[in-house]
Amino acid sequence: MARIDLVDLAHSYGGDTYALKPMTMTWRQGGAYALLGPSGCGKTTLLNIISGIVTPSHGKVLFDGKDITNASTRERNIAQVFQFPVIYDTMTVGENLAFPLKNRGLARDVIGKRVKEIAELLDLTPYLDRKAVRLSPDAKQKISLGRGLVRSDVAAVLFDEPLTVIDPHLKWELRSKLKALHQALDLTMIYVTHDQTEALTFADTVVVMHDGAVVQSGTPEELFARPAHTFVGYFIGSPGMNIVPADVKGNEARIDGHTIRLNRTYDSLPIGAKIEIGVRPEFVEVAAPAPGLLSAKIERIDDLGRVRFARVRIGDVKFAAKVPNDFSVPGNTAGLVFDPAHIHVYADSLLIEGRA
Ligand code: ATP
Repeated sequence: MARIDLVDLAHSYGGDTYALKPMTMTWRQGGAYALLGPSGCGKTTLLNIISGIVTPSHGKVLFDGKDITNASTRERNIAQVFQFPVIYDTMTVGENLAFPLKNRGLARDVIGKRVKEIAELLDLTPYLDRKAVRLSPDAKQKISLGRGLVRSDVAAVLFDEPLTVIDPHLKWELRSKLKALHQALDLTMIYVTHDQTEALTFADTVVVMHDGAVVQSGTPEELFARPAHTFVGYFIGSPGMNIVPADVKGNEARIDGHTIRLNRTYDSLPIGAKIEIGVRPEFVEVAAPAPGLLSAKIERIDDLGRVRFARVRIGDVKFAAKVPNDFSVPGNTAGLVFDPAHIHVYADSLLIEGRA
């Protein structure tokens, strides 16, 4: 296991465009991290820089304080699990799991013990003597996961969208299993995904990337409660946070000619910045229209099974609000009630602290 530091790291594949914008950050020894963001935001580039597949065009990578920026993947002692199974079809499941340990010259009894342990954790024990070739894609990917986890001396285990080939009904089980495996094995794990459910289930710390930059790193609760960037608010949560242009002065925000009270005071917002307020659908109540409430047009109600969301419109701005199952208001006009404790103010997409 290692602590991993990225120091002034950036990467361009050529020309003036940067797949990764300058970043400095630390990945704690033994942490369970998810690297979350949409396609093309730079997740794989960052993972490949950590593993040594890509050499960064700027900055350094340190493992336990040692500069390994130019070291090979093998020298870094990293295990990697990819989207698709990387296994030997002609070997048995047991031989596949043992391979990374044999490669490192470990004693037979040590290998046997560890293979047994990993097979048990991944429910692969009944298949240990079976040839991998005849197994389902799910089982093959479990073997891949096992091969990634079998060495206890690795600096980190990197997962790149590892559940892509897994059957949807098994995904939930494997997601939870990976979390349990992290607790049992005490390895530094970095899990790349564009799927917020996978990230939030697996990780203690979720690192959100947008357009080549890390926009926030925090616990799932922190990302939900205090998004540091409007992108995090929008990307985490289903539906995401409502983000509305507003005119903010002191402890008031004006939207569409209506004043909303804020819990904090904003004295000196950057001049010329785009000012928005963000509020999650869970903290907006849809009531009957009344004087003093922000008026909105109800467009539809989305029934997501256990929860329902009203989709409303304030002028040109679309808005979502969680509503009770027996929700009804007369007509299609409503009044919105905001919980001031959960309203955030953003200037050019970045969270502004405000004064208590
Ligand atoms: P995905 O989930 O689609 O793989 P990602 O978040 O992992 O996306 P990257 O694959 O790291 O993102 O890509 C980041 C940016 O770098 C993209 O604009 C991509 O087109 C570009 N890129 C990635 N690999 C290369 C390469 N080998 N050469 C040139 N540009 C590349």
